[in-house]
Amino acid sequence: MDATAPSSLHDFGFSEMVDVLAAGGVIAHHAKALWRALHRDGRQDLTSCDFLPPLKRWIDANVGEGKAFFLDAPEVVDEIHSSDGLTRKFLLRLGDGQVIETVLMGYDGRHTVCVSSQAGCAMGCVFCATGQMGFVRHLRPGEIVAQVLHARRILKQIDPRKRLRNLVMMGMGEPLHNINAVMQALDIISDVRGINIGPSKIAISTVGVVPGIRRMAEEDSPYRLAVSLHGSTEEERAALVPVSQRWPLEMLIGACREYGRKTGKRIFFEWTLIEGKNDSPETAARLVDLLDGIDAHINLIPLNPTSGFAGSASRSGHAFQKTLRAAGFPCTFRQRRGIDVAAGCGMLKADRRARSVPG
Ligand code: SAH
Ligand code: SF4
Repeated sequence: MDATAPSSLHDFGFSEMVDVLAAGGVIAHHAKALWRALHRDGRQDLTSCDFLPPLKRWIDANVGEGKAFFLDAPEVVDEIHSSDGLTRKFLLRLGDGQVIETVLMGYDGRHTVCVSSQAGCAMGCVFCATGQMGFVRHLRPGEIVAQVLHARRILKQIDPRKRLRNLVMMGMGEPLHNINAVMQALDIISDVRGINIGPSKIAISTVGVVPGIRRMAEEDSPYRLAVSLHGSTEEERAALVPVSQRWPLEMLIGACREYGRKTGKRIFFEWTLIEGKNDSPETAARLVDLLDGIDAHINLIPLNPTSGFAGSASRSGHAFQKTLRAAGFPCTFRQRRGIDVAAGCGMLKADRRARSVPG
């Protein structure tokens, strides 16, 4: 990276913020005020903040156009509401023009933000619109944090009494392919002095990047792990998830067992039901064997139609669920809320014509 390129203040963890200020002759004490302004109050313009003179002087000299530091403030280029009003999807334009999506969902009295970790995705899952776009670039921590700040700002406008308490890394991209930036961002997002979303309310969803799962196990990561499985045999899975060739099913399940042993945490397995591909009674029975002994919750996701694949008939989906439940696994259906606004993964960015849906 160019040593003189400006940095985003949203990229820094708290101790880095202390160091940055110290390098400019501002004592640690002021880092708290700056942190609160950025993350607790979500300020987008620091010049109007009521800071003490040393911090104010530092900001005037260092933050802004043509200066050493800037704030991540993505521009909203599109916003779509579901007809029930409970899901809002935002297309956000980043500094270099890349467009990503962030979704705010509010149901059952809980509000959840679904956050992107990359522009595009390198993993190429055949049923996923983001995967079909290919990989563009990783997001910086600040670009991840800014999505949450945006969602929180919107929630405040909708209902000032409501708090954003849940986060899922299930937007565009594969979070464990960009693990350093994602972990840095989640540390910032869960900091109690700032955004303060509890680590146990944060889920990282991965297509099965085994080194990332091992790292989460070794570090006893406080975040929840969700693994997108979609197949009960190597063949079945690889037909849907090409990276299964790199991290085969057996290796992935081994890493999940290890994760369970080391952390004692439950793993959420996501299963997108696709007609004729992974929704048969035989597949359900094999899945039961595969997950034997793992503390697993299975989330069945009705396919959002993208390109040539059909969602399962609800009959086969319910039979699938029944088999898993009979074997003792908690197994639930992901609600299809928001599908009428093309809130399915990757769908909006890939197809902006979906905007014509009533909101
Ligand atoms: N890359 C990560 C997180 C983003 S995708 C992952 O794959 O887990 C989040 C979830 O959406 C994954 O479970 C993925 O399989 C699912 N998904 C992608 N495309 C979908 C579609 N067209 N219909 C339903 N679910 C989809
Ligand atoms: Fe990437 Fe996840 Fe889509 Fe697969 S499902 S292409 S890993 S975003």
